[in-house]
Amino acid sequence: MVKAQGVRKRFGTTEILKGIDLSVERGSVTCLIGPSGSGKTTFLRCINHLEKVDAGRLYVDQQLIGYTERNGRLHEMKPRQTARSRLNAGMVFQRFNLFPHMTVLENIVEAPIHVLGRSRDEVTAEAHVLLDRVGLGNRGQAYPRELSGGQQQRIAIARALAMKPKLLLFDEPTSALDPELVGEVLDVMKSLAEAGMTMVVVTHELGFAREVSDQIVFMDQGVVVEAGPPSEVLGNPRQERTRAFLSKVL
Ligand code: ATP
Repeated sequence: MVKAQGVRKRFGTTEILKGIDLSVERGSVTCLIGPSGSGKTTFLRCINHLEKVDAGRLYVDQQLIGYTERNGRLHEMKPRQTARSRLNAGMVFQRFNLFPHMTVLENIVEAPIHVLGRSRDEVTAEAHVLLDRVGLGNRGQAYPRELSGGQQQRIAIARALAMKPKLLLFDEPTSALDPELVGEVLDVMKSLAEAGMTMVVVTHELGFAREVSDQIVFMDQGVVVEAGPPSEVLGNPRQERTRAFLSKVL
């Protein structure tokens, strides 16, 4: 579902991603872990066209991100094409980014109606199903400020799902939450994983990563140091850098 080949990204003169190679299988969960500043969020944003890749190739569902290829040459994608292919991936941010002046239901139906041009009735019916799925079936008429952080994040997940994305990207979805609210968000993510959603998750929740991931990717200083199943990367890391990181956080 996602394939990165030698992906590079710089901000000014600083190279943040220094050649990322990575594959994410359809229906699998990949957790990106690593020290602060290692480039995890930047890589996630590249997958969703929020950042432009400078070199290398990044594919989502076999579609090249940010560029089109003609006669073996890469040409920058037109903004309209970029907007269309961004719809492949739904994104859930650390700060839930719900529209504060809209009810929960309005937050969920906004993009399917105005971006996809779908009928309000149909999308509203689907939104009720999604609200049930995240355990908030009775809160459709609430405003975000009336909800806890955990509830707002579950709404943000429902809102991303309403666009029927091919994969979901999560950028530290629980790190802005009070500790007692983390579990309810992780439980929703677990149920999505069990339902076969392809997910890439930047997280510091190693317990969740161990339990739910098919693949753990340890990044440091803009490279993938080690990738594999949790039993290997967390249980029996091959690289000294991975061991040093884990010894600090576990
Ligand atoms: P954390 O776990 O702290 O979120 P991270 O591994 O996700 O870290 P990134 O957020 O990808 O790391 O940041 C990698 C580096 O890129 C950091 O040094 C950050 O300051 C820098 N950076 C990120 N975005 C920009 C930007 N838009 N302009 C300049 N520098 C940036």
